[in-house]
Amino acid sequence: MIKRNRSFILLLTFVVSYTNAQEVIFGTNNYVEYQVGTLPMVISVPHGGSAEPSSIPDRTCNNPVYAVDAFTIETALEIKERLYNVTGCYPHMIISHLKRNKLDPNRNLTDGACGNPEAALAWNEFHDFIADARNTANQNYSNQTFFVDLHGHGNSIQRIELGYLLYDYELELSDNTLNTTEYINYSSIKNLALSNVNNYTHAQLLKGPHAFGTFLTNNNFPSVPSESIPFPGTSSNYFSGGYITANHTCYNPSAPINGVQMELNFSNVRDTPANRTAFANAFTQAMIEYMNVHFNQNWNTCNPILTINSVLETNFSVYPNPVTKGHLMHFNLPENTIYEYQIFNVFGQLVAHGELNSAKTVSSEKLNSGMYILKISNNSTVELINEKIIIE
Ligand SMILES: [Zn+2]
Repeated sequence: MIKRNRSFILLLTFVVSYTNAQEVIFGTNNYVEYQVGTLPMVISVPHGGSAEPSSIPDRTCNNPVYAVDAFTIETALEIKERLYNVTGCYPHMIISHLKRNKLDPNRNLTDGACGNPEAALAWNEFHDFIADARNTANQNYSNQTFFVDLHGHGNSIQRIELGYLLYDYELELSDNTLNTTEYINYSSIKNLALSNVNNYTHAQLLKGPHAFGTFLTNNNFPSVPSESIPFPGTSSNYFSGGYITANHTCYNPSAPINGVQMELNFSNVRDTPANRTAFANAFTQAMIEYMNVHFNQNWNTCNPILTINSVLETNFSVYPNPVTKGHLMHFNLPENTIYEYQIFNVFGQLVAHGELNSAKTVSSEKLNSGMYILKISNNSTVELINEKIIIE
């Protein structure tokens, strides 16, 4: 009895409260949003916003483009959810909520804000958040971060355009030319081309069997450049990458990460919730494969942001894990205590709870396949364990 009381005090001392919330930082007036991530991946969404505050006049300087990249914020959020589902970690995400007639973060400050101080502040916050995200991810992952600037294009050919800062006609140059220092120095994957685990050439990284565009194509989303579409042609209005890609990838020596501008076609990618989910799934598969092949990273083992240091956890286990849907999950816990369990989905919603039976088992019958967070407590306020469980 004395021993049990002592361990209970120890448990209380080491309890860390559970939270499934992702840290989100808003810039001034909520014009720009930074969802802080835990993966070595930064995604920016500059043209999906819809806010049109009257305090910022419409941009009229230097032939502004007003076209909104429809549903790119929704698509990016779907990508985040799929990545979290699979890896237990979030990408860093920077979103402009201002409509493009008010702010264009993919232009330089002069053209993007057209001299309006409120827009200029949002422009600076957008770019500062990307730099913060890059620095955080690089610190946590030894400078092995990948960057995607996410857009939507209105070109007639329904395929994804990947912009590595190489123009359409440059992508038609010979592999030997693309592999010269001159062209590698133009590239948003310059650092990867100069050094990668498989010694793939720049041309191979752009359009070989292990190019990002090839992985997307293999997941049913045709992309250019890729193995099957190595260059876009010079009359397709192909987007090679803009201000954001040029300033936040290693093309800029002070931004030591590789990346790409990704222009999504509309039909079958952005147009419906179901298609956005399907695309987010394909993006996740392609990106995980890409990071695995070229950066030797295994995102499937990425630890969730929720780590806990309870004494009990060191002796806790759930088995089998993953568990096949319908089967029992067994919890290895000390005897003689009444435990409560709670199971949350990846969105932090409580999907199952109750008092553990004496056999310390819970059925997975009512849970869909996916990742969950299991919480065990020994009264309604004291949380002892957070554990990732997978239902297959
Ligand atoms: Zn755009």
